Amino acid sequence: MSAYPKSPLMGQMMSKPLLISSIIEHADRHFGGNEIVSRRVEGDIHRYTYHDCHSRAKKLANALQQLGVVLGDRVATLAWNGYRHMEAYYAVSGSGAVLHTINPRLYPEQIAYIVNHAEDQYLLFDITFLPIIQAIAKHCTTVKGFVMMCDRDRLPTDGSVPNLLCYEDLIAANSDQFIWPLFDENSASSLCYTSGTTGNPKGALYSHRSTVLHSYASAMPDALNVSARDAVLPVVPMFHVNAWGLPYSAPLSGAKLVFPGPHMDGKSLYELFEQEQVTFSAGVPTIWLGLLNYVAQNNLRFSSFKRTVIGGSACPPSMMKTLRHTYGVEVIHAWGMTEMSPLGTTGTLQAKHMGLTDAQQEAVLLKQGHAVYGVDMKIVDDAGAELPWDGITYGNLLVKGEWIIHSYFKQEGGDILEDGWFPTGDVATIDADGYMQITDRSKDVIKSGGEWIGTIDLENVAMSFPGVLQAACISVFHPKWDERPLLVVVKKPDAEIDKAALLQFYEGKIAKWWTPDDVVFIDALPLGATGKIQKNKLREQFKDYKLPTA
Ligand code: ADP
Repeated sequence: MSAYPKSPLMGQMMSKPLLISSIIEHADRHFGGNEIVSRRVEGDIHRYTYHDCHSRAKKLANALQQLGVVLGDRVATLAWNGYRHMEAYYAVSGSGAVLHTINPRLYPEQIAYIVNHAEDQYLLFDITFLPIIQAIAKHCTTVKGFVMMCDRDRLPTDGSVPNLLCYEDLIAANSDQFIWPLFDENSASSLCYTSGTTGNPKGALYSHRSTVLHSYASAMPDALNVSARDAVLPVVPMFHVNAWGLPYSAPLSGAKLVFPGPHMDGKSLYELFEQEQVTFSAGVPTIWLGLLNYVAQNNLRFSSFKRTVIGGSACPPSMMKTLRHTYGVEVIHAWGMTEMSPLGTTGTLQAKHMGLTDAQQEAVLLKQGHAVYGVDMKIVDDAGAELPWDGITYGNLLVKGEWIIHSYFKQEGGDILEDGWFPTGDVATIDADGYMQITDRSKDVIKSGGEWIGTIDLENVAMSFPGVLQAACISVFHPKWDERPLLVVVKKPDAEIDKAALLQFYEGKIAKWWTPDDVVFIDALPLGATGKIQKNKLREQFKDYKLPTA
């Protein structure tokens, strides 16, 4: 910033730091009566307004101040999507501390590791996670207090958690008179660790500025298109890259927010969608499987659901078809990463696509999409040379932008940028219109006879075969080709699948030599902490698998 030259004629615009507190202040002042509805951990529905949320966030900010939390301190949460978590989002970051959202699906040892790594001062947790806290509390050396997010009557009295505090007591004991402090907009606001499929998790440390800019950008029409006419239900957890920014972009836009709590099964979600007239939702593909199965099995329809963002892993074409054609739900395929706050690209159509057939439009929508303003991207070969945007040539995907990390928290991993660009670890093509398509994660690509096979295409074909519920393609050792694809399939309940017919189904859909060498059926795919298929586990499971072609 200061490194840039100053013009002799500076603009005459007001300026104040871009701070997260301004979002909830705006929502309270201009959309104060709009609702936040939560299905609570306790099971019931809780309903209040942005005004109430702001008021309780200020009470919590006062409480944190009394507990001695100061600028830059880390305060962790281990919580579902709900109103108390939302209050913590604003109270912690708004008062200048750093909100460290922890993924409860990590192993307890990993949770203890990141709590210590982050040097969390306080840890706020939902009732559900009491057993985790009981198990790790004594290993969390920096934590001065554990705050259980409930009323006093739910607190354990057996002394199993040291320095236990009650969230509702803190709220009740404090005033909602609090003036959000002003400080440098580049100050850290929140911290989210990557799931660490290899090695220890590493922290992405967001700033107020990056978060506010990401919130503006993600609300735009060709990004997530969040407006004051929406009722937004983030299925993506608030512990996974800030629920893709929706706890910021919804209040910024005045949208109603609907939180599902821990109840993410198809039935609970469907009921909430209908009851709260949800128009817009967001989540990883695996979560939609559950909802769509429930809706299909019970012959139900959505009465208000219009749009959904699917990202985190590739949206299978069969899922996009069902949502669009059977239920009339627009699908926005989005791509991003924890390291990118997360939004990088969104797949929406341009004026030039309006005359295309539905099938042609769907082919565009299935790509991960065009860069959102604020993010730039390129594909390069292994030597770092930029590759053409022809939709065919694939290479390593690099990004740069206002809400992308330049280094991990505490410099873990050292210098990570390549010439100022962040290497995403994804392999992609970019077409002449700027639409990026992920071929694979570089560590999942199958290297057959020196040539690359992208697994996403192979999985998408399998997913559109009758009876296939989920599919994952992995590399297996082959004496001649080094690696060949093995297709691992989970069948729909009671489905019969003929291996040969499934392999035959690939004909004409992909290059012949890409066809998997074999198919295996298993009961369930290993899922990681963010609901993604853990291919490293699958590779381990099938490392001695002997292909019929070997
Ligand atoms: P983690 O890296 O911990 O799995 P992230 O949510 O940060 O968690 O994952 C980012 C990665 O997820 C991307 O690098 C990419 O490989 C994958 N991903 C995200 N969105 C998509 C998408 N729409 N299609 C394909 N892959 C995706």
